[in-house]
Amino acid sequence: MRTTENGRPMHVVVLGGGPIGTTAALLLAGEGHRVTLLDKDSGGPGSDAEQAWDQWRRPGVNQFRHPHLLLPGGYQVLSRELPDALAELRALGARPHNMLDAAFDLAAIGGRKPGDERFDTLAARRPIIEQGLGNAAVRAGVSVRRDTAIAGFLTEAVAAIPHITGVRTAQGEEIHADLVIDAMGRNSPASKMLTDVGAVTPVLDKHETGFLAYSRYFRSADGSYPAQAAWPLEHHDSLGLTTVPGDAGTWALALFVSVKDRAMRALSDPEVWQRVAALYPGMAHWASHGEPITGVLAMSGMEARHRSFVVDGKPVATGLLSIGDAWATTNPTFGFGLTMGMSHSLLLRDVVREVGFDDREKLALRFDEITNSILGPAQQASASWDLHRLAQIDLEIEAIPYQNGVTYRTEDPDWNLRQVVEAAKLRDPDVLRAFGDIGSGLSSPEEALARPGVLDRISELGGGAMGYPQPGPSRAELLAVIGAK
Ligand SMILES: Cc1cc2nc3c(=O)[nH]c(=O)nc-3n(C[C@H](O)[C@H](O)[C@H](O)COP(=O)(O)OP(=O)(O)OC[C@H]3O[C@@H](n4cnc5c(N)ncnc54)[C@H](O)[C@@H]3O)c2cc1C
Repeated sequence: MRTTENGRPMHVVVLGGGPIGTTAALLLAGEGHRVTLLDKDSGGPGSDAEQAWDQWRRPGVNQFRHPHLLLPGGYQVLSRELPDALAELRALGARPHNMLDAAFDLAAIGGRKPGDERFDTLAARRPIIEQGLGNAAVRAGVSVRRDTAIAGFLTEAVAAIPHITGVRTAQGEEIHADLVIDAMGRNSPASKMLTDVGAVTPVLDKHETGFLAYSRYFRSADGSYPAQAAWPLEHHDSLGLTTVPGDAGTWALALFVSVKDRAMRALSDPEVWQRVAALYPGMAHWASHGEPITGVLAMSGMEARHRSFVVDGKPVATGLLSIGDAWATTNPTFGFGLTMGMSHSLLLRDVVREVGFDDREKLALRFDEITNSILGPAQQASASWDLHRLAQIDLEIEAIPYQNGVTYRTEDPDWNLRQVVEAAKLRDPDVLRAFGDIGSGLSSPEEALARPGVLDRISELGGGAMGYPQPGPSRAELLAVIGAK
């Protein structure tokens, strides 16, 4: 255990008790550090999953009641590093789920094989995931303080770069720390708080536009679930759909559209939403099995964003590291946020272990370097996919009326390869597993596609693919059902 000169444990203050701040707090507490976790929202009910779903108010997280799936990549971080947290999730009713269970039954795939347990995860609604992690943090001795909004940083000036020595709460309390972690989510006020103490402003890279989500939760009376889709995400003309399994007989279907596609705003009407969901044969049953337990949950503000805390080779401040959505976001359609943030928490733990607390600048630079080299490519790939997909939808919007679809073309080899993989993924067992590893947050595309024969099979099966493979309506048919002119 690292201690200060007078023998006390290092004090780490984690700002934001969302899933990523809580994971980081657990990992750092496991190192023997004294950890304080602060969040502006109230805490959950503790041991009652239904109360967590019905009553826990979380104004600090807009997507709190939106569908969330913990991908196998994030599940494996918890399983290896924080098994007690997984036990808490299970105790609250999170249930086993394998991402490829339905695909194994396809004739072209030929059943399960040893090793396919890597696609396992636990399914639960987000309030249950957060409650489980929060319970684990309390049990692990993290000092969890809710209803505590952070208003500013405490600093000590070191050679022109501010050194963060703690935080000031909205009530004016000062909390000192050897290290402060910013896990305050996609709208983290840390950048403003840094400029308030004289730091160079972190560089924010934010897309001008993005996607809107229209989601709905369902529940069956008998605890049954709709049949799993071969892969939980389908792209179609102007719209993407994801199926999200939950706990206690609940599940959700989420529809994602472009913010600029005004005709799709009608999806906030539950009747329109139900008519549209019924148009997609691979997923329609997710909106007809059971009864809705929510209206249509709408969410905007999901533009890709990324913050750089090292500017011109220098950290904007020392003593502060940002993780999870506070560092960068990915497109929620792919469900990578929790997995990426949990992996980020693990990198944080490892870099703190490697560098220690004494060389402040080295700690900031090393964390930035490792974050960008390990997580940067996936975050950039997601942001780049967004731009192509939004441009594709723009073309569809402009091309009304049209008959046989508009094919979006680009020279970007990554986008073109992804289109081909989409077409090939359910037609070959090795391609499916490579795709499953990438989509589950278990492998990078470089690793998974480098397996012998995989790229050849992909071009053989998906080459020349035009449009998306799953059956669904054209944009014109979609607009007709929505009732748009
Ligand atoms: C519609 C939607 C669907 C998604 N679906 C998935 C999915 O299926 N799978 C997946 O892995 N990811 C999904 N994501 C992404 C996921 O929600 C995020 O990646 C995740 O919430 C990031 O966690 P975090 O702890 O970094 O931030 P957050 O969850 O945003 O938590 C930030 C915390 O900081 C607190 N806070 C903020 N400001 C202050 C302050 N001043 N003082 C004190 N506390 C403060 C907030 O109260 C909050 O608790 C989805 C996102 C959206 C928008």
